[in-house]
Amino acid sequence: MKKGIHPQLHEVTATCACGAEYKVLSTKEKITLEVCSACHPFFTGKRTNIVDIEGQVERFNKKYAKK
Ligand SMILES: [Zn+2]
Repeated sequence: MKKGIHPQLHEVTATCACGAEYKVLSTKEKITLEVCSACHPFFTGKRTNIVDIEGQVERFNKKYAKK
């Protein structure tokens, strides 16, 4: 196995502007969110459940996995 082919995934804390923190796997060392399910008006105004939060983190991971 050659080194450097696969990016190193490690657990990092994604911190939102509202103070919420999420554990995600990423090649980044630090992640900052501007908005999350916990503070987004759409979610806070209508509903809040773990499924929405997980979906957001999943999209977040995919977004950074491509880079
Ligand atoms: Zn938030």
